[in-house]
Amino acid sequence: MVDKSAMLYIIADMNTTQSVTALERKIEKIRQALSALGPIHPGSASLQYQVCGRPGCRCAHPRRPQRHGPYHKLSYVHQGKPVCRFVRADCAKELLKRLAAFKRFRRLVDQWVELSIQRGHIEFFGPRPPTPPTVPVANTKERRT
Ligand SMILES: [Zn+2]
Repeated sequence: MVDKSAMLYIIADMNTTQSVTALERKIEKIRQALSALGPIHPGSASLQYQVCGRPGCRCAHPRRPQRHGPYHKLSYVHQGKPVCRFVRADCAKELLKRLAAFKRFRRLVDQWVELSIQRGHIEFFGPRPPTPPTVPVANTKERRT
């Protein structure tokens, strides 16, 4: 008679191995996507108009003020400190590209963490895999003499 519990155990272990392999494959794709990423930069950019304060300037016109700008303002938090800087107009396009790349970077890292937790659940908290049967090994020392 077949031991039903042993059969279930083997099936569960096969599923586990397949799941881990599938997760490893997904993680490998994330690694590749990460290494294909170009330059990144955290934060967000906004367009700002400025009032310079010089008397008689067009930005101080009493009825129709024409403020200076727009300027690209970059904001981000680094090591707990908020940073705010204006970016040269000729750099704006590249900056926006890096901000988008950073969002992708974060998404990929989040996915990697998620998949790693799933993998850990299987490997650390799932059923223990059965120990493989021991195969008798020929004693090579004896053969040489
Ligand atoms: Zn002005």
